[in-house]
Amino acid sequence: MKLTILGASGAFPAPGTATSGYLLEIDGHHVLIDCGSGVLSRLQEHIRLDQLEAIILTHLHSDHTSDIGVLKYAMDLGRKFGQPIGKIPLWSPATPQPLVIALESPDNFEQQTLKDDQSFDLFGATIRCFATEHPFETYGLRIEKDGKVLATTSDTIPCTNLAPLLRKADLALMDAGSLERLRAPVMVHLTAAECGQIAADSQVHRLLLIHLLPFFDPEESLAEARRHFPAAEIAHPGQTYAI
Ligand SMILES: [Zn+2]
Ligand SMILES: [Zn+2]
Repeated sequence: MKLTILGASGAFPAPGTATSGYLLEIDGHHVLIDCGSGVLSRLQEHIRLDQLEAIILTHLHSDHTSDIGVLKYAMDLGRKFGQPIGKIPLWSPATPQPLVIALESPDNFEQQTLKDDQSFDLFGATIRCFATEHPFETYGLRIEKDGKVLATTSDTIPCTNLAPLLRKADLALMDAGSLERLRAPVMVHLTAAECGQIAADSQVHRLLLIHLLPFFDPEESLAEARRHFPAAEIAHPGQTYAI
């Protein structure tokens, strides 16, 4: 498997970048995980739209979905202009229901629902869903093929599902949407320090921090995570990671 970071900004895109969007290649098949602001543009730097074969939306916050609307236009128009664009599966949580209905596009998407502890096969990889703790129904994904594991937390705070989601993952993408100095009574994202601690406890092999707010100094996030996981890295847009 190969994973290309299309965008990893949290909440809104930093200048010239995109929010959450990850292009997963499984034996030459292309799967888009999340489709935030700026992702459609970045996606086309790597593949043609007729090469996109599946989409998984981890939850329905705008920074993970906002380019779906323009992707529908691109698919409709591409077909009209003779590109061989077919209908593709799109997985998302079942709630909030109005946002699930807004995804509907019968010519483009076969909508399917993610559930906690559900597994499904995709191009020979096994995708297992773990519900995380976030204001919307959200799923972390553990994707396994030929003994190699990619795990992505999506958006979350510490919760019991993170240990089985991340256990000994070869590559772990973790929501570093907060920092220890921003700790508040109610949190909606992990701090970078929590990412480092949980990654170390879960014995992951490689940790990439994602979902940093554009206001953050990445060096601060990195220093926090490295207190617990010295090899922590920031996910770099445009970079491809082999798993
Ligand atoms: Zn979110
Ligand atoms: Zn988010």
